[in-house]
Amino acid sequence: MRLLVISDIHANLEAFEACRAAFPPYDSVVNLGDIVGYNASPNEICERARAMGGLVVRGNHDRVCSGLADMTDFNLVAAMSAKWTQMTLLPENTEWLRNLPQGPLRQNGLEDVEFVHGSPRDEDEYVLNAFTATADFRLPGHASTIFFGHTHLQGGYICEDGRAHPFSPVYETTEEIAQFTVRLDSGKRHLINPGSIGQPRDGDWRAAFAYYESGGDAPAKLTFYRVPYDVESAQQRIFAANLPERLGLRLKLGR
Ligand code: ZN
Repeated sequence: MRLLVISDIHANLEAFEACRAAFPPYDSVVNLGDIVGYNASPNEICERARAMGGLVVRGNHDRVCSGLADMTDFNLVAAMSAKWTQMTLLPENTEWLRNLPQGPLRQNGLEDVEFVHGSPRDEDEYVLNAFTATADFRLPGHASTIFFGHTHLQGGYICEDGRAHPFSPVYETTEEIAQFTVRLDSGKRHLINPGSIGQPRDGDWRAAFAYYESGGDAPAKLTFYRVPYDVESAQQRIFAANLPERLGLRLKLGR
């Protein structure tokens, strides 16, 4: 099965459209959540995410922006953008976000793979280091391969000798479209983050996603992508909406 894995689009229309033009042919798509929040195109992105179909896991911004949770865990900038998103979302998109399922989810036809927004034990947990990833690998009853989002950092962890070891893609370019492919050792467990389409935070401004090809008896193949997009237009949309300026400035920094 050829699986497209996307996450943390965060209402960034320009980034999403650039990725859409770069998506390789796929059989199924999984969206790891945070469809809205931060950027200025929540309705356009909800419509496109709904039209793509596939599996969608809810994120913390989806919960807050659709009124399912309050903003107490949000910093000032996140709260301001959530408030703006609540006022801007069309009722049918709010309703769709409200009804998104909580992870972990599984995909028909894909054994031993799970999908979460934050982590397998908590949809709001940030898997930011090997310590947290090791604790997640030690949870009983979970799949060998777990795709997660939430941190906006592309890469992941491999479990060896009971401990998590980080890995991240290495690209030869910084401004062009780029991809990086690895084989996933079938005897090992992996936590994999496709990166964020709409607000990357790993120092690379290009939109990020991943592509997973399960190979039957052969080891699965994983390809990370980075796609340049029209950041200036995304920024202009943020400034025109009177969203906090920092939300626009950070896009070009990839932070
Ligand atoms: Zn997010």
